[in-house]
Amino acid sequence: MFSDRPGKVLLHWYASSARQLPWRETTDPYQIWISEIMLQQTQVKTVLPRYRGWFELFPTLEALAASSVDDVLKAWEGLGYYRRARFIHRAAQMIVSDFEGQFPANFDDIMKLPGIGRSTAGAIASFCFNQCTPVLDGNVKRVLKRWYAEPEARDKTLWLRAQQVIDGSGDPATWNQLMMELGASLCSAKSPNCSDCPVHTFCASAFSVDVTKELRKQVPVVDVHWRIHLFTCPEKGIWLTQRPDAGIWGGLWSPPITVLDDRPDEDPTHIHQLTHRRLHLYPLQSDSDPIGDGRWVPSIEGYALPTGIHHLLDKMI
Ligand code: SF4
Repeated sequence: MFSDRPGKVLLHWYASSARQLPWRETTDPYQIWISEIMLQQTQVKTVLPRYRGWFELFPTLEALAASSVDDVLKAWEGLGYYRRARFIHRAAQMIVSDFEGQFPANFDDIMKLPGIGRSTAGAIASFCFNQCTPVLDGNVKRVLKRWYAEPEARDKTLWLRAQQVIDGSGDPATWNQLMMELGASLCSAKSPNCSDCPVHTFCASAFSVDVTKELRKQVPVVDVHWRIHLFTCPEKGIWLTQRPDAGIWGGLWSPPITVLDDRPDEDPTHIHQLTHRRLHLYPLQSDSDPIGDGRWVPSIEGYALPTGIHHLLDKMI
């Protein structure tokens, strides 16, 4: 369907309207990889300064592999989904130990790296090594479902569609970029702009997308209520514990947190929004001695704390 004329129209549209982004001006797999992982779940405007700063801290894969995981988590602070940072660190060490420090060029080898799924591997293999491997992130899924008017299509079908259209594109790297760009711009989740879309004469859903129905199918946001136990002492500072690796804010440092079964009577001091969770934070100052694993720190400087905890502490001071 999109392999011939519509494909050319899209390539032309992308050439004339794509945003200039630093990771689109390189084919270096280390740089592409970091950008792809940062861009999962994080907006471009947030990623831009962090992407540039990353390579000042970790200029090479070897430098990244030789760093401590705490240094990597600290560098990731504010980007959220910290599992990504731990995966990056482990993957860098694996590249050094198993691939002689060279980022693998083979799709199956790329897939072996921690934290890299089929879509991210497809992006790296196409952008860096010009392989015909599709990207299928949330934006691309939405575009394909709309093109083919298949709102219920499952991933298996979408991967087939994605492979068909990239096979006929003649330029897999640009094709993947333009699919993501189309989904992030004209064919957005909330307001598709079919009038300006270069493929509206070919798209099976043009001018008929039921946005309300589509959005209803999204995973609902769940409210959770957390008690944040603040142990502070003028001589010792603040008591921090390291969060378990699995779960929200995994591996980061925080005052002790307990999950509340019910919403308390008081208002939360801070509400922190994640993609599928809304964290309501209720601080409790305590004069007693903390128990359990943790450490007194005179300052939170140098510790990777979640953004939500930073905001909470800012409000408490
Ligand atoms: S015509 Fe509309 S629904 Fe179809 S791809 Fe373009 S913006 Fe999306």
